[in-house]
Amino acid sequence: MTPRIRPDLATLPAYVPGKTFPGAVKLASNEVTFGPLPSVATAIADAAVGLNRYPDNAMVELTEALAKRLGVTPDNIQTGCGSVSLCQNLIAITSAPGDEVLFGWRSFETYPLATRVVGATPVQIPLTGDHTYDLSAMAEAITERTRLIFVCNPNNPTGTVVDADDLTAFLDRVPPEVVVALDEAYIEYLRPSAEQRYDAIELHRRYRNLVVLRTFSKAYGLAGLRVGYAIADPTVIEALRKVHIPFSVNSLAQAAAVACLAADAELLARTEAIVAERARVSARLIELGYRVPESQANFVWIDLGADALDFAAAGLEHKVVIRPFAGEGVRVTVTEPHENDVFLDFAQRWVSEAG
Ligand code: PMP
Repeated sequence: MTPRIRPDLATLPAYVPGKTFPGAVKLASNEVTFGPLPSVATAIADAAVGLNRYPDNAMVELTEALAKRLGVTPDNIQTGCGSVSLCQNLIAITSAPGDEVLFGWRSFETYPLATRVVGATPVQIPLTGDHTYDLSAMAEAITERTRLIFVCNPNNPTGTVVDADDLTAFLDRVPPEVVVALDEAYIEYLRPSAEQRYDAIELHRRYRNLVVLRTFSKAYGLAGLRVGYAIADPTVIEALRKVHIPFSVNSLAQAAAVACLAADAELLARTEAIVAERARVSARLIELGYRVPESQANFVWIDLGADALDFAAAGLEHKVVIRPFAGEGVRVTVTEPHENDVFLDFAQRWVSEAG
């Protein structure tokens, strides 16, 4: 007799992150290349002295620092072990078997996986032809079983963003009891056009069902420590606190995140270099004949259709690790010029070999 596992999980794939190897340029996980600032490393070392104790489960210092920075109150904030845990917890507090969780597709893989873990039904609405969330098609797809909607902006893996008017028109159409999670994991890289500009904090005040998700993993460079946060109405935050795994934001992570906030001008200034590189990498790829939608994140999407897996496999031979999506395309992190050049060199070779 084998242990009894829920049969509906048999077809659920495990999350497989991009693998790397010595000497490779890793462009598969949208990380930054720099390590913690000296002030952040010191905060981590200081916190390490108290590792015999459990962390602060209420995460008071970090929650208060975030509330102050964002102009909200601590009862509008819940931190979690990466924003991925907050995606899971939002599903847990809204959805049960028979309920629907709606999102654009392709988008962040956690949405369908975590939905299936609770036995709810993922409803995936194809992106528009230009790889952007199709908010009007999503509004049409809302049923009386819809409990939660994810809008990933900028979208992972395509980097595209929705227009602000389309977002508010969409929020106007969502019934107020349906929670909308605006996943802004890459927001620090957004340089919005006039049409794309919105203020998420203001929106969450206007729409009590709106939850904004952010992370310290990307622009703040703490991917290895796992800290994210949700900004929402206190009713949602209260529920998130009930399902939070006790002590899951460890004390080093809390101290590092507080220190990052204290140094955020310096950290955010570093996003400028990525934004400039994103423009350079995209322009070069387009010049080489690739189809690349305009990205507002720290990665670019290349629409490769059936060639996606072959392209990524050839990249490995060139010591470049990128993230393929079979039959669709590849996502390539934008980092420092010398790493981006290794990728561009490979992308150019691929074109000349194909031609
Ligand atoms: N949302 C999106 C869209 C992401 O791409 C990611 C990370 N890949 C996350 C959330 C989760 O980030 P973390 O758990 O590291 O905060």
